[in-house]
Amino acid sequence: MKIVDVRATTVAVPLEAPLLHANGAHWGRFIRTIVEVETDDGLVGLGELGGGGQSAEAAVAGLRPYLLGHDPFRLEALRFAIANPTASLYNNRTQLLAAVEFACLDLMGKRLGVPVSELLGGRLRDEVGFASYLFFRYADPSTGRGEVRTPDQLADEARRLKAEHGFEVHKLKGGVFDPDYELECYRALADATAGDLLRYDPNGALSVGRAQRFGRAILDLPNDYFEDPTWGLNGMRQLRGLGLPLATNTVVVGFEQLASNVRDPAVDVILLDTTFWGGIRPCIKAAGVCETFQLGVAVHSSGELGIQLATMLHLGAVIPNLDHKADAHYHHLTDDIIEGGKMPYRDGAIRVPTGPGLGVALDHEKVARYADLYRETGDYPYDRDPGRPGWYPLVPNERWADPAAAQPADLTSW
Ligand SMILES: [Mg+2]
Repeated sequence: MKIVDVRATTVAVPLEAPLLHANGAHWGRFIRTIVEVETDDGLVGLGELGGGGQSAEAAVAGLRPYLLGHDPFRLEALRFAIANPTASLYNNRTQLLAAVEFACLDLMGKRLGVPVSELLGGRLRDEVGFASYLFFRYADPSTGRGEVRTPDQLADEARRLKAEHGFEVHKLKGGVFDPDYELECYRALADATAGDLLRYDPNGALSVGRAQRFGRAILDLPNDYFEDPTWGLNGMRQLRGLGLPLATNTVVVGFEQLASNVRDPAVDVILLDTTFWGGIRPCIKAAGVCETFQLGVAVHSSGELGIQLATMLHLGAVIPNLDHKADAHYHHLTDDIIEGGKMPYRDGAIRVPTGPGLGVALDHEKVARYADLYRETGDYPYDRDPGRPGWYPLVPNERWADPAAAQPADLTSW
């Protein structure tokens, strides 16, 4: 089997409302690049990447000379062919490698008539449990709905998501407002979801001192873990005395950092991201290291449509030591580009696809519709907040948003 064509299509899929985070916002839509890898026997494998608010079409097109003629089964060769670690000092293609790896695994599964999870060790579970992923949100400008900026709104949103999807773990994406205000919100979340586990993740925005203060103030709550409260392995190490499990998806996103964390522990739980780590297979390798050294493992979400979600589900299905619920932005989306529409949550979990390959197929009408939407609305800067023109954060941050600020009027240009 040889690769004969590589295509990329950028889509913009609307979110229920704009999502705020420590570095800016998702401006009311996710922009994702859908990758289709075709082989000489007519099979098409699917990949996906994106997350920074921009198209990756040009970068995918640049890979064509590297990929044409390559056998999709030769995945280790592919790693060195396009993402040699020393050549990557100039051209870091880790995320591109991930999208191509997804497509190649999809092709292998389709060729052999088995799901990707069966190629990767076999399913240990038929569904993967998820946490709710709660963001502070602006209202959707067209509907006026979806705003989450106060403790009461956050509590209501958590109750709604729990009732609708069955979540029993709740993650608050913070780092937006002053930590004392976010502490008030987190405690309101705890009250609204009594008995459930909680996570707080301000994307490393707090100083070590403010992270210590926040951590001490939540010790009485059922915390699943304290995720990236401050920046850096050395910053996180200074929080080890708090008595809270520490998690990261920012400072351990590769094997060098994982080795450092084993030799001089900073965090307890590693959130594995199929894009950040360069594919599903490196995440499984990393999970093996975590199993050996008794580190916790969870599945990270870097913002996904159904193709990427399928990679997260196949990963979650085959890792024996998945001892925390996975994250997904998925429930904030209004639609998906796969056949059958959005995958449903049942009791806080999503079933692992069982069809050949990744087990998802493109709905070509939806792809065309959301490619049109991308052409109409264009890119957005993930690291800017439409409500605060000219603003950018420091690390550690001190330039917090005002929860009472006006709703931004324009979410298409900046
Ligand atoms: Mg995180």
